[in-house]
Amino acid sequence: MANEIKENERLYRTEAVVIRRMNVGEADKILTIYTPDHGKLRVVAKGVRRTTSRLGGYVELFTKSRLLIAKGRNLDIVTQSEPINIYRKLREDLNLVAHASYVAELLDRLTEEGSQNYPAYELLIDTFSGLNSGDDPNITLRAYELHLLSFMGYRPQLQQCVRCQAELRPVVNFFSPELGGVLCNECGNIERRSAELSVDALKVLRHLQRTPFNEIPKLRLTDNLRRELEQAMRSYTRYLLERDLKSAEFIHTVS
Ligand SMILES: [Zn+2]
Repeated sequence: MANEIKENERLYRTEAVVIRRMNVGEADKILTIYTPDHGKLRVVAKGVRRTTSRLGGYVELFTKSRLLIAKGRNLDIVTQSEPINIYRKLREDLNLVAHASYVAELLDRLTEEGSQNYPAYELLIDTFSGLNSGDDPNITLRAYELHLLSFMGYRPQLQQCVRCQAELRPVVNFFSPELGGVLCNECGNIERRSAELSVDALKVLRHLQRTPFNEIPKLRLTDNLRRELEQAMRSYTRYLLERDLKSAEFIHTVS
């Protein structure tokens, strides 16, 4: 009896999405998973690269599973896995592979291990579901960025000028990654480290920011506007992370 209790204390169950995988040793993988209750975790899946492995495909990249995990001395160990959703298209369609990789990489870069953030978990699931079921990948990524940045405490200020606090007018304004939001036309002309932001781009960013992720309607945007939105968000994440995401280039390579 005592042994049984001891055994159970070493195990825990969690839902999880695999956001990164790395081969180690001859047949193992280290998985970075994102979970509802523990945030990001690094766990090891032993023997998973052998064809006979029972864990097999359920620890594939981007898969949502129910895991049974044993506490290990260094890394915890996945002992059982049962798939909930494998988001097949995110592994088969190269363009979606690239977009899903970006979603996973941004989450990985913005989070510390063991720091719980349930809204971010839900957002990850909703984003993968949306991409898998044919939502516009480009707009999905912009909405994902805006919501994730808010959950992580980096919500960009899109209503008032981040320098003089004036209400933003429908003219060409500026986006400042360093100040975390939009500068009015006057301040933007003084602040050198900012880029022009068109009236339409600001409108779309505001719309995506205030609309719950699951309620964002289909938007028809020109290629120019898509590029402008992407550049603004990319300049902001690059500033926060002090680097470019590898998967941002990947998206352009495959599309
Ligand atoms: Zn201003």
